Amino acid sequence: MLSHSMNDATSSESTSEPLTLSVRGLSRDYEGTRALEPLDLDLAPGRILGLVGPNGAGKTTALRMIAGILPTTAGSVAILGHDVEAEPVAAKRHLGWVPDDPTPFDSLTVWEHLEFTARLFEVDAWPSRAEVLLRLFELVEKRDALGGELSRGMRQKLSFACAWLPEPALLLLDEPLSGLDPRGIRAAREAIRGWAQRGTSVILSSHLLDLVEVLADEILVLDRGRKVFHGTLAEARALRSGGLEEIFFAITGDVEATNEESA
Ligand code: ATP
Repeated sequence: MLSHSMNDATSSESTSEPLTLSVRGLSRDYEGTRALEPLDLDLAPGRILGLVGPNGAGKTTALRMIAGILPTTAGSVAILGHDVEAEPVAAKRHLGWVPDDPTPFDSLTVWEHLEFTARLFEVDAWPSRAEVLLRLFELVEKRDALGGELSRGMRQKLSFACAWLPEPALLLLDEPLSGLDPRGIRAAREAIRGWAQRGTSVILSSHLLDLVEVLADEILVLDRGRKVFHGTLAEARALRSGGLEEIFFAITGDVEATNEESA
């Protein structure tokens, strides 16, 4: 059986900088059913964490609690030391969030979404940044389109642009590329890499294991609400050779076999 926890040192590598994200004992029950077992997680500045796992593993549940959108059953989340429940405004000032199916306001244009975000986060000189983001995500022609008039991919691109506009310390991306065209995927991939290089920590939840493999500094695998691996790709390869896909099947398949054995 593959080791489950060789690796929590990875994310809490000694650093003089404060952690961007600190999660302790985070768990969630839905009507008595446990969706996420108690999770501990630290993320240092500039790190990209790939969050992977089969359908129903608890990825979105974890992300929504970290974002302060979903109440926790137990545990705590701190962003740059600010507890998400006790100090939601201070914590969320540093947070950008791209949900899996963004729903922009029907009555605001693309540009007005950026303006609204800038005012909410008190971003100075936002129009020049917004122009750059419109070009990056090929939304220039949609500048005056209403939220309700956008395709799914365009909604995701707008969500990316709004999430990045305040240049947050932490970006949570829940399956963010699923609706993007190849140019959009490339733009988003390079943007994520560049943002991390500037110090933003990123959690990228995705079933696109190739993407996670090229971007992530560390990998967290959830399965049925449990953390089954957290470490670097190199650490994962010490358990199982091959790419992330082989490692993913070995780790999650192993758990299945173990569960069957103990049933
Ligand atoms: P996917 O890859 O399919 O998006 P996921 O890893 O994001 O899955 P979650 O959406 O976090 O998984 O779901 C984790 C578990 O919690 C699943 O068993 C799911 O059925 C359950 N769950 C999620 N939302 C609710 C809800 N609103 N009410 C009841 N159960 C829920």
